[in-house]
Amino acid sequence: MTDRTALIVGCGVAGPVLAVFLQRAGITPIVYEGRPTPRDEAGFFLNLAPNGLDVLDTLDSGDEIRQRGTPTTTVVFQNHRGKQLAENPETTVLIKRGLLTKSLREAALERGVTVEFGKRLTDVDISGERSVTARFADGSEAHGDLLVGCDGVHSRTRRSIMPNAPQPRYAGVIDSGGFTHSASVSPSEGVFRMTFGTNGFFGYQVVPSGEVYWFENVHRPTEPDRQQLDAISDEEWRAKLLDIHRTDHEPILEIIRSTDGIGKWPNYEMPSLSTWHEGPVCLIGDAAHAMLPSAGQGAAMAMEDAIALAKCLRDIQSPEEAFAAFERRRKDRVERIAKNARRNSNRKAPTNAVTRKLRDLVLPFFLKMGVKSAERTYSHTVDWDESMTRS
Ligand SMILES: Cc1cc2nc3c(=O)[nH]c(=O)nc-3n(C[C@H](O)[C@H](O)[C@H](O)COP(=O)(O)OP(=O)(O)OC[C@H]3O[C@@H](n4cnc5c(N)ncnc54)[C@H](O)[C@@H]3O)c2cc1C
Repeated sequence: MTDRTALIVGCGVAGPVLAVFLQRAGITPIVYEGRPTPRDEAGFFLNLAPNGLDVLDTLDSGDEIRQRGTPTTTVVFQNHRGKQLAENPETTVLIKRGLLTKSLREAALERGVTVEFGKRLTDVDISGERSVTARFADGSEAHGDLLVGCDGVHSRTRRSIMPNAPQPRYAGVIDSGGFTHSASVSPSEGVFRMTFGTNGFFGYQVVPSGEVYWFENVHRPTEPDRQQLDAISDEEWRAKLLDIHRTDHEPILEIIRSTDGIGKWPNYEMPSLSTWHEGPVCLIGDAAHAMLPSAGQGAAMAMEDAIALAKCLRDIQSPEEAFAAFERRRKDRVERIAKNARRNSNRKAPTNAVTRKLRDLVLPFFLKMGVKSAERTYSHTVDWDESMTRS
């Protein structure tokens, strides 16, 4: 089961994790990343859930990620006046995206994996004599026994091998936020504070250095054009957020005011695909099943996919059969979590004082139920030593 080469498209979350597990399985991975250079300082932050950390522990990278991040031990929910509605235990790690992808890439490089930057995939060809050929925007090609698309929600791999597959669906929300140091926000020892504001949802956590990590969900029903969104000045966007939160408790306004370079990320999710693979090509992570960020699970799911697929390819010689086994194992879990996230995001915000009061009364009950559901998701583990041929 050796001497096979796997082309991996994308060096975000799924790509480097898959590469390390494939190498451990005796398959040679080569990772092709479209960006010209790493962007370790760029991007937002995310909360990595225990099921994702469990995969990283199997990879021997969990402790490093924990050190580079900050634990979130409690989530406090508040209403627009700052009244506490619920306090839930939490066990995630808050980390800047750039630091996470840097750590994962370094883990792959340290283990001798080849990672090539500036390789933007344009086309996947499965018709030739070689099992699979990847073509890149710089005119070069690569050949392998199989190819795995880890190239995110707008996957070029997916469009190439499944031209009739549904497109990502814009979810009507732009995630917005950033980082700031604000003297008036006191350190919160692992507490992530989420506010159901009068007109919008706001969350923040202060890490030990005093830096505030925050996000906001701006509702915008029509899909924004990326260039138009980028053209909105920081001042204009900040004014919009200050207006949305004008009646909400401090330090929300202070956090927004003190932030330079507020980011904007339109939310997309993938409609369910009828299959995640075609011939010697398979999709994992967001390329196969991007879910709404409110799930807090996209990165963890990409990691679970990576270990599960590597096990299938380790134990099942034919890539097609390995991909089918992988999909059978993963699809139900991933789609259940995506559905939950969709349901939570669709809850309408109350529009007046009476419905807000009612919401404040019933919400603690639903938030407690959320803890139980999260525990089920978090407790999932993938045992690397379990043989896939017996399952
Ligand atoms: C605002 C926001 C907040 C989120 N918060 C959380 C959270 O708290 N917790 C959580 O678990 N998840 C969260 N997620 C989801 C999470 O970020 C994704 O699920 C995760 O990054 C998916 O990993 P991936 O490797 O599949 O894709 P990505 O991380 O998107 O990586 C794809 C890689 O492929 C590269 N690429 C793209 N096209 C090509 C091409 N043509 N050729 C070569 N390379 C290419 C990209 O440059 C990138 O490096 C959030 C997402 C968003 C948008």
